[in-house]
Order: sequence, then C-alpha cells, then structure tokens
Amino acid sequence: MPSQSFDIVIIGGGAAGIAVAASIIRRTKALSIAIIEPADTHSYQPGWTLVGAGIFKPDSTIRPMANVMPAGCKWIKQAVVNFQPQQNLVELDDARLIGYQALIVAPGLKLHFAGIEGLEDTLGKNGVTSNYLYNLAPYTWQLTRSLSSGTAIFTQSPVSIKCTGAAQKAMYLSCDWWQQKGKLAKLDVQFHNASGALFNVAEFVPQLQKTVAKYGIDMRLNSQLVKVDGPNQMAYFNQLKDGQVVDQISQKFDLLHVCPPQIGLEFMQNQLITDTNGWLKVDPETLQNPDYANIFGAGDCINTSNAKTTAAARKQAPVVAENVLAYIHHQALPTGYDGYGACPLTVSRTHILLAEFGYDGKLLPSFPKWLIKATKPSRIAWWLKASAMPLIYWHLMLKGREWLLKTIDRTN
Ligand SMILES: Cc1cc2nc3c(=O)[nH]c(=O)nc-3n(C[C@H](O)[C@H](O)[C@H](O)COP(=O)(O)OP(=O)(O)OC[C@H]3O[C@@H](n4cnc5c(N)ncnc54)[C@H](O)[C@@H]3O)c2cc1C
Repeated sequence: MPSQSFDIVIIGGGAAGIAVAASIIRRTKALSIAIIEPADTHSYQPGWTLVGAGIFKPDSTIRPMANVMPAGCKWIKQAVVNFQPQQNLVELDDARLIGYQALIVAPGLKLHFAGIEGLEDTLGKNGVTSNYLYNLAPYTWQLTRSLSSGTAIFTQSPVSIKCTGAAQKAMYLSCDWWQQKGKLAKLDVQFHNASGALFNVAEFVPQLQKTVAKYGIDMRLNSQLVKVDGPNQMAYFNQLKDGQVVDQISQKFDLLHVCPPQIGLEFMQNQLITDTNGWLKVDPETLQNPDYANIFGAGDCINTSNAKTTAAARKQAPVVAENVLAYIHHQALPTGYDGYGACPLTVSRTHILLAEFGYDGKLLPSFPKWLIKATKPSRIAWWLKASAMPLIYWHLMLKGREWLLKTIDRTN
C-alpha cells in the first residue's frame, strides 16, 4: 500500500523535473503534484564551463533546492530506488511507496568516473580535473592559470554524454587564456576524442576545425581515455578503428581535463520501463513510455537521440506538461518534441558558435540570421550564454514561462 498518492509524481528536481512541474502548474492548479528529489541544492550545470574559465563564481550556479520548488508541489526529500509500474508505485530509499496517476521520470544520468581505471583516486589533484563536477570546475581554472609549459590534455568520452561540446568548450577557453598570456606556444594541447568526428553535426565541424587550427591543438579522434596514473601524471588511451581497439598509447600530462563516460543511473537499470543501458524508454516525439501510457520522461535520462542539454529539457517541458495533462483527461496527446538541443561552443572568451539542432542533426536556429548566423561564432551568442541564459533559466524556464518555445502540434 502506498504511504501517499498524488495525481502526478515527478522523479528528480533538476533542470527537467522543475521545468516540467512549473509548466504543469502554469496550466492547472487542480492536481496534486509531488517532486521526489534527495538533494539540498539545485545546480545550473551549463554555468560550470564558465566557472572552469574563471568567468562565473561557483556559487552563482547553485540555489537551495527549496527555492526552486514550484509553489503548490509537495517536495519529498528522498531518492527513488525502484519502480513498480504495474501497480503505479515508486519505492523510496526509506522503503515508503508513493502512488501516482501519472509519473514523470527526470533523474538525470550517472557520471561514470569509475569507468576509467585510476581516475577517481586522482580527481582534484595531480593536475586532473573535470568541469562536470561543481567542486572541480574551480580547479580547472586554477590549473589553467598556473600552467606555463608542458602538456594539457582534454578528453571526450563516447556518446551518450550530456553537453557533447563541454570538453571542447573547456579546451578552447583555456587555450584563449594561454594565447592572451603568451603561453600557448610553450604548451602541447591535445584533444583525445573517443568519437570519430570533432562534432556530431557536420555543419558545425569546419568552424571548429578552424578553432582547433588557430590554437594549434593536436586533435586525436578515435582516442579513448581508459586509465589514469595520477601520481605519475600518465594517461592511457585505446586507439579505435570502427569501434574496435587497435592500439594503446600513453601520454605524460601536466593538466588532464576529463569528460567522463555517462550511463543510466543505478536505480534505472533492469527496470521494465528502461532499455538495456538504463535510459527511460520513450516515444521520441510524445516522450511517453511505449509500455506504460501513464509514464513520461524528460531530460538526460531518456533514450532519445537529441543532445542531452538544459536547452533540450527546456523544449521538452511544455511537451510533457501538455501530454501528461491530456493523458489524465483521457485525450489524445496534443504536442510533440522535435529533438531540439543546443550546445553553445565557446570558441574563445568572447565568441560562441551556438549549435542548435534537432533529431538527425537538423539545424533548428532560434534566431534570425541577421542576429545570429547558425554556423558562425558571434559576440551576441556569447552574451546570450554568459548574461541572458542564466536569467532565462532561473526566471523563465524554472517558473514555467515558455518563451521562444515551439512544439510540434499533433492535433492536425
Ligand atoms: C559541464 C557541463 C556543461 C554543460 N553545458 C550546457 C550548456 O551549455 N547548455 C545546455 O543546454 N546544457 C548544458 N549542460 C547539460 C545540462 O546541464 C543537462 O543536460 C541538464 O542539467 C539535464 O537536466 P536533468 O534534469 O535531466 O538532470 P539534472 O539537472 O542533472 O537533474 C537531475 C536531478 O535528479 C535528482 N536525482 C538523481 N537520482 C535521483 C533519484 N534516485 N531519485 C530522485 N531524484 C534523483 C538529482 O539529485 C538531480 O537534482 C552542461 C552540463 C555540464 C555538466
């Protein structure tokens, strides 16, 4: 028996969970809604790239979770450990069962640092850092400022990873700093990317190649970080061809910035509603689970092919809100998601290439060409990322104010 039941239960109070809750509440206040979220703090993770470049203060990227919980939602401060979709129940880590009429799954993903041998022991010391962790982004900046010569390595894991461009962004921001300080020529900067392409949407690659050439970066594609020896500052890479390991190389480093492998969270593994990788199964357009019509998903946890970004969650929120309400009212699902995601690639400390695209790499620019050219870096895109986006996040997205959001109309 459930200890409590709600019309709608949302798992996760991150970017997606809060945005969906706020979007539902904007549409109706007649339903009981609970958000299950164990953390005290809510993070604006896109800001961590700029923390790693010394541009944002770390504390500007976080807020107390209580401050972002939409009024009218019950916050259950626990973690979900199991699903019982046949009984419309989720199980909490204190063994309580929570019942629902509709469930929205949005707990994000797992940063799998343990998937690289030796990495966890050396994170935060020996020159090993990652902007993927709040407490380490300041270390990236500390290392960038102190490095004058030697080897700086930036790595990127195989997809699916959140914000595919995060490794490159950290690298270009550091390179621009070193160039300004006259240190870049004394540094060997390497980019080891497990993928076979610099970026997964071809239209953005030429501009990124120019950036790589401008900073003299040694680009190694199909090179996957597999082991780190922190005390000796050695990194080990598998060399891949057609997904198979053909060689292994080692490299001494002075700075190592790691984009970790990313997988479905532990409690998402081996569930009726998830795939073999622990991602929530959803229809890519309606974001509804194909087996349980009362379960929807949003954010990094879903098995769609879009770029896992806050920008994607912002676009998914009204789709899930509309569709879950339609489900509750026994109506056809009215809206669809086009796979929109955005990756603001910080090619320097003043310019951004705003990569906006949907399913199958279709370019989906939000702005007219005269304002922001889809494939060219611009100062205005930098302003958008550094000044406007945090405000849009805290004051619009997390409040259910759906500015500049087009969804697919499925009613025709
Ligand atoms: C360095 C970096 C740079 C980035 N740059 C950008 C960018 O420039 N633009 C962009 O759009 N995106 C960017 N992103 C990606 C973006 O931050 C994520 O895609 C976004 O946060 C996903 O939202 P989410 O709600 O799915 O997950 P999260 O925001 O991670 O939230 C998940 C929530 O679920 C909770 N949770 C976890 N387990 C459980 C459980 N068992 N039960 C209940 N709750 C649980 C967590 O505590 C957390 O609060 C970046 C990310 C990083 C790390």
